[in-house]
Amino acid sequence: MNRYSIKMRASNKEEGHISGAEKIIPEEELEQYCARLLTRALRHSKGKPDFINLKIEAVREEEILHLPALKVTTIATSSPEEGMEVVLDYLRRLGLERAEEILALWKQSYCMRGAMLLDADTLRRLEPDRDRGIRATYMDMETEDAERQSACGGKNHFNEALVLATKVVNHPNILAELCISDDPDYVTGYIASREFGYVRITTLKGLGSPLGGRIFLFRGTDGERDDCIRYLQQQKVLVHVGDKASTPAAHSRVSHESGKLYERKGTNPVDKWKRMEEELQALREQHLYREIKVIESPQRAHVRYRGRDMLMLASNSYLDLCDEAQVKAYAAKVLMEYGTGSGGSRLTTGTGICHTQLEDALARFKGREAAIVFNTGFAANSGVIPCLCREGDVIYSDEKNHASIIDGCRQSRAETVVYRHNDMADLERKIRERQGRQGLIVSDGVFSMDGDIVNLPGLVELADAYGLLSMIDEAHATGVIGDTGRGCEEHFHMEGQVDILMGTLSKAIGAEGGYVCGSRTLTEYLKNKARSYIFSTSLSPVTMAAAKRALELIEKEPWRVERLQENISHFCGQLREHGVEADSETAIIPIRIGEEEKAVKVSARLMEQGFFIPAIRYPTVKKGEAMLRAALMATHTKEELAAAAAAIAEAIDYCGGC
Ligand SMILES: *Cc1c(COP(=O)(O)O)cnc(C)c1O
Repeated sequence: MNRYSIKMRASNKEEGHISGAEKIIPEEELEQYCARLLTRALRHSKGKPDFINLKIEAVREEEILHLPALKVTTIATSSPEEGMEVVLDYLRRLGLERAEEILALWKQSYCMRGAMLLDADTLRRLEPDRDRGIRATYMDMETEDAERQSACGGKNHFNEALVLATKVVNHPNILAELCISDDPDYVTGYIASREFGYVRITTLKGLGSPLGGRIFLFRGTDGERDDCIRYLQQQKVLVHVGDKASTPAAHSRVSHESGKLYERKGTNPVDKWKRMEEELQALREQHLYREIKVIESPQRAHVRYRGRDMLMLASNSYLDLCDEAQVKAYAAKVLMEYGTGSGGSRLTTGTGICHTQLEDALARFKGREAAIVFNTGFAANSGVIPCLCREGDVIYSDEKNHASIIDGCRQSRAETVVYRHNDMADLERKIRERQGRQGLIVSDGVFSMDGDIVNLPGLVELADAYGLLSMIDEAHATGVIGDTGRGCEEHFHMEGQVDILMGTLSKAIGAEGGYVCGSRTLTEYLKNKARSYIFSTSLSPVTMAAAKRALELIEKEPWRVERLQENISHFCGQLREHGVEADSETAIIPIRIGEEEKAVKVSARLMEQGFFIPAIRYPTVKKGEAMLRAALMATHTKEELAAAAAAIAEAIDYCGGC
């Protein structure tokens, strides 16, 4: 289809600018549309023009970027002040710290012809010409012919604004657009962004005021600014305004190299994001929507969160080794000596001295022939289980096992039989029903949400009796239980009895990575078979070094494990004194709440008071079994834990009616 861009501008000496319009239309409509634009210019209420400029340019299809319109939300406000509060609120949602100053600057755009281009962080104005500002042009709505005919007579503020806002915020360096119309009769304004779409605010200025202006909030380099200006002023954009316009998600944007205009061919009438948006909305309604909390300090007993000091009662860094001076010093030395990356997978070029040293240290620590390190605990479970079992085999898996074990079972294609939590009678019944088949019993050593410990004597006995492999995931056991923190076997005085000891370096050990300890047959087999080991770049030497040093500290400085264990009994005692049920031998202390909404409220109250304890909800735990999951560290003081226990009891009480 041949298309043309038409721009019309009408002015006279008394009024200056009278009327303007722009469109991108098919060739067949060109003549008729020019006539309509002339009529519009000649009959404008502001007066007769003495100059009309009509600019018509051919537009090639490849030059056009097709975009879905932003999703529209309308917020009814009854005064400009209330409207401004809404804008402020949305600016803050974008994380803009200087939101109020941005609003104050808005007025400076009122006398400009185009928009102000403002650096969202430094508030530096970036327009090359401050009077002219930046004009976003060459855009139109993508409509059926019939609609265009009827729409073109009058000026439709809303559609024009939606088209402009969609184009503007589609640029990756534009965070948001703010706009107030300069039409004295039009008090509605908007704030638009990729994040929340087009938010119409019904009253954003006083009726009769001819003042209005726009700001494009920008974040990026000088080069990106030039590219952004070029995009705004030159890129041809057609915006598809469907019945259900949707917010373009971040990755629906077209990536580009500096200096090139955006190109995107064809339109897609299917709303690709509809299902995701609906499901997200459903999560919000069920209080199951997850938000990321950004910690502004190292992970340790006290963290900075939203600018405040908080007592961290949720971390898996049980021995507080993520920010330990000796570990960091050693890791820094290794960093300078061995660099940042491993450069390959373990079987190609990605095995260095640091990897093998750590594996030797782990094997020694766990009293096994050998160890093998994976990139994460998740990758260990999901990679190892499919090596141990295949189609025709049976895997017996505790119902509360970690997601990575569940994924490993699924990937193995073996029959997975889930037994009741830590129920050895149920397990045995299920094994008997399938007697004679090759297989595996797999269980968390310390269950990650409930903090209870596997019945290891029962499990090992069944495995031995029925010729099954036994596998224990020690993610929350290593560094926590057993007199010297060696985990489940030490806790039960059953050294050497589990076939496959799996664990992670990311919890008590304070680094990253997963591991499996066992016989040499096992580790050699895994090296040759485990896909997550073979087809993934190995961890950096720094991470390996940090884990190795942390392991040495656990052995050399037993006070950490001892203090952690003291803290556990002290904290549970304190909670019980305040009437809160708590009973755990591990660093995980579940505090049961039940309803998702109440758990969220209790957590929010504790967060307000400086205690970092998030609510744990479905899908991490079952629906209706929401809880607070307190996690202790060796470095929490008795006083801190006493204060936390009191605050938890108070918050549960306070939210009792929720
Ligand atoms: C955390 C965890 C894992 C995964 O370990 P990562 O190193 O974090 O990937 C596996 N199993 C259990 C029981 C866990 O709690």
